[in-house]
Amino acid sequence: MANKLKANNKCSGCMACVNACKLNAIEMVADNDGFYYPVIDKTKCVNCGKCSKICNNKKLEKSTPIKAIASYNLDNEIKYKSSSGGIFSLFAEEIISKGGIVYGAGFNKNFSVSHQRIDCKSNLLRLYGSKYVQSNIGNCYCMVEEDLNNDKVVLFSGTPCQIFALKSYLGKKYENLITVEVICHGVPSPIVWEKYFKEIEIELQEKVERVSFRDKSTGWQKFSLAFYSKSKNFIEPCNENIYMKLFLENHILRNSCYHCEYAKYNRFADITLGDLWGHAKISPNISNNDGISAIIINTALGQKLFDAVKEKTKYEEVSLKEVVKVNKSFLVSPNKTKIRKNIDALIKGSIKEYKINTSKIERLKCFFKRVYNKIKIEIVLISKKVK
Ligand SMILES: Cc1cc2nc3c(=O)[nH]c(=O)nc-3n(C[C@H](O)[C@H](O)[C@H](O)COP(=O)(O)OP(=O)(O)OC[C@H]3O[C@@H](n4cnc5c(N)ncnc54)[C@H](O)[C@@H]3O)c2cc1C
Ligand code: SF4
Ligand code: SF4
Ligand code: SF4
Repeated sequence: MANKLKANNKCSGCMACVNACKLNAIEMVADNDGFYYPVIDKTKCVNCGKCSKICNNKKLEKSTPIKAIASYNLDNEIKYKSSSGGIFSLFAEEIISKGGIVYGAGFNKNFSVSHQRIDCKSNLLRLYGSKYVQSNIGNCYCMVEEDLNNDKVVLFSGTPCQIFALKSYLGKKYENLITVEVICHGVPSPIVWEKYFKEIEIELQEKVERVSFRDKSTGWQKFSLAFYSKSKNFIEPCNENIYMKLFLENHILRNSCYHCEYAKYNRFADITLGDLWGHAKISPNISNNDGISAIIINTALGQKLFDAVKEKTKYEEVSLKEVVKVNKSFLVSPNKTKIRKNIDALIKGSIKEYKINTSKIERLKCFFKRVYNKIKIEIVLISKKVK
């Protein structure tokens, strides 16, 4: 039973197994591509099967999305620091103001990314903004369980696989837990990020003090990847920056992301957050240049949290169907590319100098995959009678 964890091509790196093993028999070890996978120490393992039960849980309850809302935070400063409309910050502040705890992905001192436990408003800023690299969960699921058992209200945020993992780990429903997931395009390799970060630091010849993957100085829709040091900065629009192109064009994602088990209509989280691309058509009344969020409410608890903060936003209900159509990652997985298949070559050389060359055949494959995805989305929306 102990070795029935998901195979590496399906393992999301969620770390539920690591948190579940109370004998500390599981360690996450990086493969050549820089992604971490569990390795069981057979000398410690007693074959109890707990880890594999949590990993392969098929009985976890899912929710059907109730509605979609277009919205943004009326606090311009916070909205600017967030990736989309700054809605996550409102949820997080609400929970903290009630004495609760918020978990989410934040930068560490060396700009690697891990999940962090936040219990005061002044530290919440660490969680704002998307970090386009896989976040290390550490022992957060164990900490969440302890907080919940101590009757704390907990808001846990992360990718859909992390929400599944937390709930599977907990194994029972807690009334004091609320979960917020991001619509997830996939997570890049930590090693590619680490290498690229070091190259930028060498170029700047100064220690990087702040990073924004969604710098809005060039606009929200044309966001930039930005590095700030004491006296210099490096800001490059996402369609020109090599790291962002490698991410957005699907060249550096985790293997499990190419057939994501969580890109399904029914969701494990109470709320799903994304960018409201196509807002001019979907929600012309909710317009600004710094970011608009798509909020998908999946449960009554999610609705209650949005109701508690809605006066601090501009919002309107919009068509769920239209939101899903423009945000494909909600339902479909990215296409695995040739560069991803040979990622070792990319990792060995300079990331900054890397040139993306895609063949005609690959571009054609991409085109057909896009058509296939469009049809798949239409079929799901029709079969689920989504309006
Ligand atoms: C890897 C990744 C891929 C995404 N792909 C899409 C997409 O395809 N389409 C789309 O519409 N939106 C996507 N998003 C979500 C989008 O970028 C915004 O995070 C979301 O709209 C919330 O924005 P906000 O302004 O309300 O809050 P923000 O403050 O921008 O969001 C912060 C939230 O993001 C979480 N977060 C940040 N980085 C990570 C990480 N590495 N791992 C787990 N959680 C993280 C934090 O825990 C917090 O909950 C993605 C986000 C991430 C992290
Ligand atoms: S629990 Fe998560 S990290 Fe562990 S094997 Fe399963 S998918 Fe991978
Ligand atoms: S089977 Fe039990 S002891 Fe072995 S690694 Fe899994 S949880 Fe730990
Ligand atoms: S695409 Fe799927 S497997 Fe990959 S990080 Fe996102 S939710 Fe997890």
